[in-house]
Amino acid sequence: MKAKVDRDECIGCGLCASICSEVFEMDEEGIAIVIADPVPADVKEEAIEAEESCPTGAISLEE
Ligand code: SF4
Repeated sequence: MKAKVDRDECIGCGLCASICSEVFEMDEEGIAIVIADPVPADVKEEAIEAEESCPTGAISLEE
């Protein structure tokens, strides 16, 4: 699985990084970045939860 963050959609709320810190991190501009590619199998559920929880739909996941 591959995770992506649309930088134009991200409002920097930090939710994804707190739900799944193995995959998402906040960069120096306060925007989420993906730090694990591919998403490790053992944190898939958390990555999906982060995607579903993102208030702006900035996260996309691809198999
Ligand atoms: S949950 Fe969405 S809006 Fe919030 S930091 Fe992550 S990508 Fe950005």
